[in-house]
Amino acid sequence: MRSNIDYLQSSISNIAGVGPKKAECLKRLGINDIYDLLNYFPYKYKDRKTEYALHAAPLDKAVLVSGVLQRKQQRSISYSRKIIECTFRVEAGTFSVAFFGMPYIYNSLQIGSKYSIFGKMKHQYGRYSFTNPEICIYGSDKDVRGYIPVYHCTQGLTNNDLNKWLRSLLQKEENDLITDYINQDLLDRNRLCDINFALSQIHFPISNEAYKIARARLIYDRLLIYQIAVRKNRKSLDSGNSSILGDAGSDIDAFTKILPFELTEGQVKAIEDIRSDLVSQRAMNRLVQGDVGCGKTVVAEAAIYLAVRAGYQAAMMAPTEILARQHYKKLKEDFDKLGYSTGLLTSKMSAKDRRELLSSLVKGELDILIGTHALIQDDVIFDNLGLMITDEQHRFGVNQRKNLVKKGSLANVMVMSATPIPRTLAATVYGDMDFSIIASRPANRKDIITRAVGEASREIAYNSVREELKKGHRAYVVAPSIDSDSTELESVDALYNEMKAKFSGYRIGFLHGRLDKAEKEKIMLDFASGKIQLLVSTVVIEVGIDVPEASIIVIENSERFGLAQLHQLRGRVGRSDVQSYCYLVNYSNSETATERARIMCETNDGFIISEKDFELRGPGDIIGTMQHGSFGNQLASLCSHTEILKMAIDDAEQIIDSDYSLIDKEYLSLVLAKYNDTDNSDII
Ligand code: ADP
Ligand code: MG
Repeated sequence: MRSNIDYLQSSISNIAGVGPKKAECLKRLGINDIYDLLNYFPYKYKDRKTEYALHAAPLDKAVLVSGVLQRKQQRSISYSRKIIECTFRVEAGTFSVAFFGMPYIYNSLQIGSKYSIFGKMKHQYGRYSFTNPEICIYGSDKDVRGYIPVYHCTQGLTNNDLNKWLRSLLQKEENDLITDYINQDLLDRNRLCDINFALSQIHFPISNEAYKIARARLIYDRLLIYQIAVRKNRKSLDSGNSSILGDAGSDIDAFTKILPFELTEGQVKAIEDIRSDLVSQRAMNRLVQGDVGCGKTVVAEAAIYLAVRAGYQAAMMAPTEILARQHYKKLKEDFDKLGYSTGLLTSKMSAKDRRELLSSLVKGELDILIGTHALIQDDVIFDNLGLMITDEQHRFGVNQRKNLVKKGSLANVMVMSATPIPRTLAATVYGDMDFSIIASRPANRKDIITRAVGEASREIAYNSVREELKKGHRAYVVAPSIDSDSTELESVDALYNEMKAKFSGYRIGFLHGRLDKAEKEKIMLDFASGKIQLLVSTVVIEVGIDVPEASIIVIENSERFGLAQLHQLRGRVGRSDVQSYCYLVNYSNSETATERARIMCETNDGFIISEKDFELRGPGDIIGTMQHGSFGNQLASLCSHTEILKMAIDDAEQIIDSDYSLIDKEYLSLVLAKYNDTDNSDII
């Protein structure tokens, strides 16, 4: 039998048809070896299994039909664009097909030949029609039948390529591709299928049932390995003594005295949890969750205060430079008053400044260091780091923590997150973490008044913006993000121009993903300082940005955002005691969009919203999420399979505690290494 590990780790260049160019493209998708390729799942399937009779085919979704070409004609619709119009005949009638911008296929279309057509079928003006469907000669090589996987591709690499390579790997009749790495008894106990079946069926399912069986197995694998990873990690970190505080002398009165407000009950409770972690010998590994605007930063400050007062250094890591700067400004102001020094490490510092900063850090002269991921680079050496805080993110890899320990830190880690996940889910996903949940909000806060408007009543939203601007407040107008789709860029650009015309007396800024870091940052700072009063932005406005003067946010095309995202965006306002507003401009009448808007108008509570979000989305397109988005997001989706999650947790415990023979150890280390290699390894 061949060795799994060697095979899985062998280069994709060994596959027939993968030359250096294609291998380069695959790399861009994160596919380096056979393991990666096998685990590159489709995000959807084309159903070319069923060929429909014309009148029986469902409308407005992709279907496969066939017909004989009866008539074709080509005409110009504009200076540079041509359209080909065809009529196809079937026994029971005819349907028409239009091809835009594909003049080259005209000559190959043969009157009297039978074709297979795959695409979205419409019934309009009394006719069945397709626009730019896939087309091929009926019964030809290209006329494949079955569920055809569709993969996310990249330039230079087609869906066909991936189909071909995976087919060649998976559809061999002879032996199994790999030996299962999970013990057979364990699989039987959990009623899970063999790995070869799972892989071949996730890529090329023969039926919906087979697909589900395959999916269950793969979800189980991910969750099992994740659970093993977090448990292993916890164990290894628990071995040292991480106490930085003695029992006595850990009050924070001096710190609370400098605050312009009273701490909320939730903040006090969270700080108390942190204090007992820092007293305890066990390494702190705490997730502080709290809805947007509940005041997590001050909790972090209190934790830092405890650490520095006990003579340790503390560090705080933010996901972006803008946020790092924002924290630095706040913390420096506060800790200057308390007599502790604060530094900011950014990627833009001059070599000299950087050297000086790092030198004072290693000498122990600097008490608090703030920055982005740059904080855990090799040359950042602390004298005695007692506490590391990360803000607004789940990404703090196993390896990153280990690196901290290597740097002489005591591995006390605190993660702050405003992404509310349902409590029950959190407790299982973050199995190795302790939690503090800040449920209360500062007392002076008013609920953000949220209204949903349709296109027709859009002006209501902008009248309200005008009112707020007149009061001297600031406003956000958000549109969906710009990727490569040029029409989208045009529409966001148009929105910006519209705002300039509408609010001509005011200073207006435009923030989008195409700007470089420095430009983005400048715009954000100008908005924070009031140089910009109205900010038109795509969703790039950072989670965590705190501009208390902003009192209104208009979200255009709100139907394109998920609930969690809407809630995060709304959280950019309502950050002071003034009444704030959120307008959702909804251009669709889809049920989900309406339901989402309704929930948003009804509640300001992020936890309720996250639970509803979960219900609305359901298990959804799990495989899609498995492939994309951060591991944190993947997990949230994966964990909606509570049955499988339960199995994975039980089995991981059994494996860690007593029985490593249940899983192939080499395989386990291969997969764990893969998680750890990824730059922002998402495992906490
Ligand atoms: P988030 O939890 O979203 O990170 P922040 O820490 O940015 O929230 O706090 C939001 C705003 O609320 C800040 O301007 C902060 O100064 C203020 N704030 C925090 N705690 C309190 C409190 N107990 N009372 C009043 N305002 C507070
Ligand atoms: Mg924050």
